[in-house]
Amino acid sequence: MKGFAMLGIGKVGWIEKEAPACGPLDALVKPLAVSPCTSDIHTVWEGAIGDRHDMILGHEAVGEVVEVGALVKDFKPGDKVIVPAITPDWGSLEAQAGYSMHSGGMLAGWKFSNFKDGVFGELFHVNEADANLAHLPEGVDMAAAVMLSDMVPTGFHGVELADVQFGDDVCVIGIGPVGLMAVAGAALRGAANLYAVGSRPNCVALAKEYGATEVLNYRDGDIVEQILERTHGKGVDRVVIAGGNAEDTFVQAIRMLKPGGRIGSVNYLGSGDYVRIPRVEWGCGMGHKVIASGLMPGGRLRMEKLAALLATGRVDPGKMLTHRFQGFEHMEEALLLMKDKPKDLIKPVVLI
Ligand code: NDP
Ligand code: ZN
Repeated sequence: MKGFAMLGIGKVGWIEKEAPACGPLDALVKPLAVSPCTSDIHTVWEGAIGDRHDMILGHEAVGEVVEVGALVKDFKPGDKVIVPAITPDWGSLEAQAGYSMHSGGMLAGWKFSNFKDGVFGELFHVNEADANLAHLPEGVDMAAAVMLSDMVPTGFHGVELADVQFGDDVCVIGIGPVGLMAVAGAALRGAANLYAVGSRPNCVALAKEYGATEVLNYRDGDIVEQILERTHGKGVDRVVIAGGNAEDTFVQAIRMLKPGGRIGSVNYLGSGDYVRIPRVEWGCGMGHKVIASGLMPGGRLRMEKLAALLATGRVDPGKMLTHRFQGFEHMEEALLLMKDKPKDLIKPVVLI
């Protein structure tokens, strides 16, 4: 089969591979709609998870089941499914402890385009199909549903990690597709003043549509100053980090956070060996400013619950799809868009 792959750090291209085999609990799926992710860019061009050779990329897909293993109960060939980016081993001790995304080791629930071939191939393998696939609800647009693989669950996880409560003042740093979904999630969770930080005009407009009460431009000056000005010097209750550089990712967040506040970070820190924490603003270590950061949880139950938010119209991630391609051959174009981030891009989707 054909797939669009990482050939090595900084190199991508089409390759031929043997089709994957289907285990008794597993499924083989052919992609119907896929999307490249900023994480693919960190992986290929920053070598963030180390070198990978001839690994098919991609972890965001809606597809059609082609084959299921003998022990699969709830899915059959022909079913249209949403495939979460994270597909844990549900019997692992880590999953039993509540951290399915780390099943088998740190980040090991993230298999596609990390430990095995991803979804940009003619076929891909899904482990534990009953636990890791979700049926695509009737009437939900397939392209919008691709955003359920990763953008919706990651943005919402930032909000969960920050533990946003009714009436909280919240700042979401970064309003690419992940940050936009964090804005939508924080609004659903009952944020009061909901500040968002970004600069691309269509992201700014969409952030307001998803519930931001104000969008601050980091190019206009220190965002900490901008937040303190608006909060009478007190800062915000919660910060969600979904963008910005790697090394200083926590600096501004800690400075703009109230004592007792929480940071929820879903940023993928692609470069550098250490991150920095500003000592004094962190209360010399005694400020009760919690940093919670993590990989999104995967699996079927969460996927079905998030899909219900689309089906009921509570969230419409389809509005983020600025570029639509028809045909597998456009994979490279779509991925390079994600790398170059032209001003009018929020998220591309490739329909196959
Ligand atoms: P984008 O690159 O599309 O968005 C980044 C955002 O950060 C943009 O709004 C950008 O502003 C803003 N930004 C850039 N520089 C600064 C700065 N100095 N200060 C403040 N804001 C800044 O990324 P995505 O939304 O696609 O992804 C966000 C992150 O989430 C990535 O690191 C990605 O890898 C990660 N991720 C993590 C996952 C997880 O499970 N934890 C899963 C999926 C993704 P501008 O408007 O100017 O472009
Ligand atoms: Zn992703």
